[in-house]
Amino acid sequence: MKNRVLVTGGAGFLGSHLCDRLIKEGNDVICVDNLYTGSKDNIRHLLNNPYFEFIRHDVTQPLYVEVDQIYNLACPASPIHYQFDPIQTTKTSMIGAFNMLGLAKRVKARILQASTSEVYGDPEIHPQPESYRGCVNPIGIRSCYDEGKRVAETLFFDYKRIHNVEIKVMRIFNTYGPRMSAHDGRVVSNFIVQALNNQDITIYGDGSQTRSFCYVDDLINGMRKLMDSPADFTGPVNIGNPGEFTIRQLAEEVIRLTGSKSKLIFEPLPSDDPMQRKPVIDLAKEKLDWEPSIQLEEGLIKTIDYFKSTL
Ligand code: NAD
Ligand code: UDP
Repeated sequence: MKNRVLVTGGAGFLGSHLCDRLIKEGNDVICVDNLYTGSKDNIRHLLNNPYFEFIRHDVTQPLYVEVDQIYNLACPASPIHYQFDPIQTTKTSMIGAFNMLGLAKRVKARILQASTSEVYGDPEIHPQPESYRGCVNPIGIRSCYDEGKRVAETLFFDYKRIHNVEIKVMRIFNTYGPRMSAHDGRVVSNFIVQALNNQDITIYGDGSQTRSFCYVDDLINGMRKLMDSPADFTGPVNIGNPGEFTIRQLAEEVIRLTGSKSKLIFEPLPSDDPMQRKPVIDLAKEKLDWEPSIQLEEGLIKTIDYFKSTL
């Protein structure tokens, strides 16, 4: 069945892959984006498709469109970008959630929120299950993003409790792949771009902090399965790859796979940078029959090929 689907943040890294997938599946897609961190280049190949519409719009302003489903992805995801204008970041998460939930309520659409592993903050429990309530600094430099995403989750569950809106909350762990911007500032794109240019690889801190990296195709599979899951399954559900690596290991792997002459250099660790992160994905396995299939080496090779073709 053709669904009318709204994707906010649809010109961004994840949003553009989601739009591709939804169009391929035969849906009618409206992509809304203010192009703050996204780019028309990510969706250029879709612009002539009669079942794809792009609207340049900021989700902090109300929007009225008739749709069956909403994916709410609008929000800068890279620390450099979300910290550049932190007040706008909180507004985007919070007022964007109000506006999209209000729309979902009015048109009776099902709505999915792109939440984040950052709701766990700098976690004291490792790995992180959905039941963990997190360790978030409410006044630090990452708070605009973390608390914005936390209040968005609150709003989703209150709209369900009060207005019976059909909600899906997905906690996304670090995801990488083609269409990350070369200037995005996140670790995978930074290291690959630096390695391909034989520039120093900038490790923040001593590189012992860990992350778990999910390839974009796996992530989009999880997102689609969550949207199509039975109405009584709301999440929150972790979607990520449990393979855990130190940032130093990631740097060494990128150097190996690119054959780069880059050297590692060490810069100060930004405040509140989480020391460890790894998802428990039992709930996604059980409820969505989902688990990632692309491991780090394979995903990095695809991502390196993408950056080679664009740089
Ligand atoms: P991205 O920065 O590439 O995409 C975000 C998109 O939202 C961009 O196109 C940007 O222009 C748009 N946007 C920002 N503010 C907006 C506003 N006020 N109105 C309309 N559009 C706006 O980031 P991404 O990696 O594609 O992330 C997509 C979503 O997934 C975000 O909500 C992010 O928080 C979440 N997420 C991503 C990751 C990850 O590792 N990629 C991890 C956790 C959560
Ligand atoms: N990082 C790094 N060098 C970089 C960019 C990031 O060492 O050039 C580190 C960063 O300090 C963090 C980890 O890599 O510990 C992941 O950073 P990213 O910005 O990708 O995402 P986060 O998970 O911190 O939101």
